[in-house]
Amino acid sequence: MYRTHTCGELRVKDVNMEITLAGWVQTIRKFGAITFVDLRDRYGITQLLFGEELQPELDANPLGREFVIQAQGFIQERSNKNMNIATGEIEVQVHTFKILNKSAVPPFTITDETDGGDDLRMKYRYLDLRRNAVKKNLELRYAVSRATRNYLHENNFMDIETPFLIKSTPEGARDFVVPSRMNAGQFYALPQSPQTFKQLLMVSGYDRYYQIVKCFRDEDLRADRQPEFTQIDCEMAFVEQEDILNMFEGLIKHIFHEVKGIHYKEKVERMTWEDAMWHYGNDKPDIRFDMKIATLKKPSSVYINKEDHAVLISGADFKVFDEAEAVLAIAAPGCSEYTRKQTDEITEWVKRPQIGMKGMVFIKCNADGTFKSSVDKFYNEEKLKAIAAATNAAAGDLILILAGAEERTRKATSELRLEMGKRRGYRKENEFKLLWVLDFPLFEYDEEGNRWVARHHPFTSPKPGDIEVMISNNPLIENAEKYLEHPYAGIKANAYDLVLNGNEIGGGSIRIYQRPLQEKMFAALGMSEEEALHKFGFLLGAFEYGAPPHGGLAFGFDRLCAILGGSESIKDFIAFPKNNSGRDVMLDAPSTIDDKQFEELQIKLDLKPA
Ligand code: ASP
Repeated sequence: MYRTHTCGELRVKDVNMEITLAGWVQTIRKFGAITFVDLRDRYGITQLLFGEELQPELDANPLGREFVIQAQGFIQERSNKNMNIATGEIEVQVHTFKILNKSAVPPFTITDETDGGDDLRMKYRYLDLRRNAVKKNLELRYAVSRATRNYLHENNFMDIETPFLIKSTPEGARDFVVPSRMNAGQFYALPQSPQTFKQLLMVSGYDRYYQIVKCFRDEDLRADRQPEFTQIDCEMAFVEQEDILNMFEGLIKHIFHEVKGIHYKEKVERMTWEDAMWHYGNDKPDIRFDMKIATLKKPSSVYINKEDHAVLISGADFKVFDEAEAVLAIAAPGCSEYTRKQTDEITEWVKRPQIGMKGMVFIKCNADGTFKSSVDKFYNEEKLKAIAAATNAAAGDLILILAGAEERTRKATSELRLEMGKRRGYRKENEFKLLWVLDFPLFEYDEEGNRWVARHHPFTSPKPGDIEVMISNNPLIENAEKYLEHPYAGIKANAYDLVLNGNEIGGGSIRIYQRPLQEKMFAALGMSEEEALHKFGFLLGAFEYGAPPHGGLAFGFDRLCAILGGSESIKDFIAFPKNNSGRDVMLDAPSTIDDKQFEELQIKLDLKPA
């Protein structure tokens, strides 16, 4: 037996017990003829005391950091207690020890505050994983997965595996492809998600499915993405949107409770996509704080049902506002005392290329009810007061106004709102606010691909009232160039996202389950009949054999863990993550393959210059 106990479990009550521990040498401290060693394992650290009699043996077999040793001895109470660690009141008076394996000097210290940079730690990830800081993230991840499985099991969900080698149907993101040796010249794709499989399982009668599963998307890795990531993937049959929202609201609350000890009692708030865009400028609003966006002016073709305040700002000869497509504002509470330096600094902030604004207009709402602004020349006190009322600004607030093209300005104002929220301390790490965003548009225009795409995915059902519209109309795809020119642009999807503190943590939809509507959907996306059959014939076929109404969703598991762990980076919650260029620097992958492998695959490389 290598050990009788772990390095985290011995206490004062165990004094005088003879025990054996095994673990890694964290630190070695010599005091004259005695040596203290901190021995570490997954469970904690226990102090070992090597007395004078062991010194010759230690001199002959010196210990080093990260050596793996086994030590036997008696527990004794420490004279110099360390109340910061659980085992800090005791130590082991060692009588025998054995070096089980030596270690080279580690390239960085295995401590919470390590001296190793990102690259180095990723190269030696197996050492990085020994650090407490990383370990506690993986423990949290495991706790989330356990809570998920327990809840779903209790609710009759069945974990069913789906294949990784599937057919390439480039739709959303780019596929990763795998050449087939047995079918030379043909390729599998790795699944971007098990979407069609879980739908087929519904057709097969497994009415509650889940899987904690890897998904693969060959995207540019901007902003903390990983080419392979994990989803909690779920699907249910015989459900409506309301059933799904309730079931998964239950799941997330259960996770909060099990993992964070939080009783999230309130009902999760709900907001339509249009309201989210209108009030917060994005479809995943952080509702931990208010500071809603006021639309002073908008183009007439967007947010058709919403009123702006254009009358307040137009006709004053202020060109910036008069010529802009959109003028949007937020009121930052308690910021009216900002100095010139501070307002200049925020102006610079919105001018950064990532935000892309040309400038910013300020109105200070002074405590005494007067106003001071950079546009005093154009707007008198009365007008400023009206603008303040439209932006919901109170005395002591600072109104920040951006103007420009609708989409860019709304996005920038949304970023500015988040930034000001951060600066004002409104985005508290320990406050969790969930939100369902509902009624997304079914289609969206993809500027890059210059075509209309399904906003969620092509299997998403339109809202019940819109199904008839789709079935009856003949789409005129060829003419669809801009927003609202697509015959179905106004159609809403039966889709929902779950948002936590401004992050989309999950999303899904009620699915199409009838062949004619699914065919219509493919056609609306510009797919010919042959193409639809070639790519999705299996699904269309399945819909002919009694497909039940169904729907589901998937949570981004890595992201959920990161938020619950109070981190912005999903990498910290993945045991072996890739870097921002999609490389595993520890394995040095991707890499070239042998000529023999190419031969077997009957593939010849002919790389075009990038
Ligand atoms: N498969 C979808 C996704 O990966 C989620 C869903 O609709 O269930 O986004």
